Amino acid sequence: MELRVAHLYPDLMSIYGDRGNVLALTQRARWRGIAVEVRPYTAGMTFDPDWPDLFFFGGGQDLGQDIVGADLQGPNGDAVKRSLANGAAAFLVCGGYQLFGGEYRPEMGDPIPGLGVLDVRTKAGKQRFVGNLVAEAPEGNLVGFENHSGRTYLGSGAVPLGAVVVGHGNNGEDKTEGAVQGKIIGTYSHGSCLPKNPWLADKLLSWALERRHGTVRLIPLDDREERAANEQAATVARARP
Ligand code: GLN
Repeated sequence: MELRVAHLYPDLMSIYGDRGNVLALTQRARWRGIAVEVRPYTAGMTFDPDWPDLFFFGGGQDLGQDIVGADLQGPNGDAVKRSLANGAAAFLVCGGYQLFGGEYRPEMGDPIPGLGVLDVRTKAGKQRFVGNLVAEAPEGNLVGFENHSGRTYLGSGAVPLGAVVVGHGNNGEDKTEGAVQGKIIGTYSHGSCLPKNPWLADKLLSWALERRHGTVRLIPLDDREERAANEQAATVARARP
């Protein structure tokens, strides 16, 4: 089996250890004997819509989102939509999560139109949400670090990834964190997220491999260290909400 990961705008949107998510996906696939190729997909390139099995899209400052938002309004955005329609999965963190939604309204400047493939909308608030983030999901804790001014609200087409236990999550109001729609998952969890949340990494891997390999049952890995890191981070976060 072979996995193709397209890292969206790694030069413009990758902060707070986001690249670690690509490393975690790559390593967890390789530990199972799956060959992995990672390609950057960024502004100035012509995206091949038939290549990706999985997109990773990290976070970024409002300025970077401006540039990236403009690129996604062109043929590259259409290519990403075609890949998703062809069964590719996507994992999005913070600024990347916001730009797969309908729009991101920054504190200053014009609204940045999003790709509109995730039923969420984001509007910046005055206070930044910064700190540890813990949310409960059916598969377990989701732990990470958040730093955003954006407040994200889900429409009826998306469901929350988890329920906030510590931190602010999507908007600091409705206790939801992240969003799931089809094979697209968005989260406010930086840190990086996937090394401490192996259940989420494996969900994305099996969705991505399905595109060209049919239903895949991943062999379980020895995740004692990952789980210990998850529990440790959750304990620290709960101790200092
Ligand atoms: N610029 C966006 C915000 O402030 C996203 C920030 C991020 O990706 N960490 O909400």
